Amino acid sequence: MRQLKTFFLRTYGCQMNELDSEIMVGALESRGLTRSHDEESADLLLFNTCSIRDLAERKVMGKIGQLGRSKNRRSIIGVTGCMAMAKKQSIFRKLPHVDFVLGTNNINDLNTVLDDVLSTGRQVIRVDDEFEENLNYLSASRDDPLKAFVSIIRGCDKFCTYCVVPYTRGKEVSRPPEAIEEECRQLSAKGYKEITLLGQNVNSYGKDKPEWGHLFHDLLYRLDKIDGIERIRFMTSHPCDITIELMQAISALPSLCEFVHFPLQAGSSRILRKMHRIYTLEEYLEKVALLRKIVPKASLGTDIIVGFPTETEEEFQMTCDVFRQIRYSVAFLFAYSARKGTPAFRWKDDVPEEVKQERLQRLMRIHEEICNEERQEMLGEVVEVLVERPNRDEVRLKGRTRCWKKVIFSGSSSLVGTLQQVRITGYNHQTLLGELCESVLHKACDHKST
Ligand code: SF4
Repeated sequence: MRQLKTFFLRTYGCQMNELDSEIMVGALESRGLTRSHDEESADLLLFNTCSIRDLAERKVMGKIGQLGRSKNRRSIIGVTGCMAMAKKQSIFRKLPHVDFVLGTNNINDLNTVLDDVLSTGRQVIRVDDEFEENLNYLSASRDDPLKAFVSIIRGCDKFCTYCVVPYTRGKEVSRPPEAIEEECRQLSAKGYKEITLLGQNVNSYGKDKPEWGHLFHDLLYRLDKIDGIERIRFMTSHPCDITIELMQAISALPSLCEFVHFPLQAGSSRILRKMHRIYTLEEYLEKVALLRKIVPKASLGTDIIVGFPTETEEEFQMTCDVFRQIRYSVAFLFAYSARKGTPAFRWKDDVPEEVKQERLQRLMRIHEEICNEERQEMLGEVVEVLVERPNRDEVRLKGRTRCWKKVIFSGSSSLVGTLQQVRITGYNHQTLLGELCESVLHKACDHKST
């Protein structure tokens, strides 16, 4: 059987895909393979794909298509991720040089599938609909030494009419709280300071397992007790499942960051109904008001789709108005693109592409204005920063605030991995500039002189 020595892995899409890649890297390394960043010479090329948007799919199809035209290529090619689930066997028809297709529920089978390909020389496909719960999270190989993604729930039961996730990731399956706690304790022992709890809808955590009596906020109280984990984040959320208990947990738990991803998607209740978001604009605004009452410092993020079928200019204006009213600090803004297999795919995609793009630009400008105002308001403020690494200039340090803002400031590299108080003194483009607060400067100098 041919021996593989190196692999190249490219990840497309969301944080869940990034985590799946880290698990696959761990599995390949345990087999003795070394990760290579040279696509040309690696023995195995693995593409962890995304299906959420048409453009993402076309990009990866084009990329893998190109590899088929190279006559000297000897590498094994594998496709995994959401595109593998959405396209299944048809990937072999369109890209006959692909050696294996591995679904999102089968990443634990990676080494077995590789063995099959190597021993038989045939194409292999594994795309189970059911999620395998024995996924080896503990052997994930992470590049970042401070911040880790931790999966708590997979799949989604919401079935928004535009979204492929319920079809590519399956129904919601929560991970046992003991297993999550154990992984977080191990991460803390390795020096990790920040964890981001991941799921397509983290707020649904535990609802599929009522016998556990352990919902999302219960999990947060449990993880907050772990020594060494300074910050807990989570993403992503569905507004319907953001409960008062969760808001109270954000207010009460010191490690829980006050940043909440609260995806609006559209500012008109008619469009929200068409999207099957199961909340009206009024209900959404009520929840935001409640969150701001319980956690006055909360910073909000959103996802918004512009140009959904039948969206009128007035309805788009409503989205802009809500955006200005809520003042989101983080926003992922997209022009609608129809995804095969979803209910919305059957509807006429009737907002012309140029109108979608023009609406997208307008919303981006509003977002930029709000971010600029926010940066201006932060001048002089002292914020807590987790120091992540030396900045590219090698002179300053780089980190993030609790509400996800990038900050660059001067300081000793011995501060990497610590929490520091930083005064904001300026900003450029998307980054805040700051200086260490006096007391910390003295501490750092003391530290240096010993
Ligand atoms: S809640 Fe999110 S992941 Fe689930 S169907 Fe809706 S958009 Fe997709």
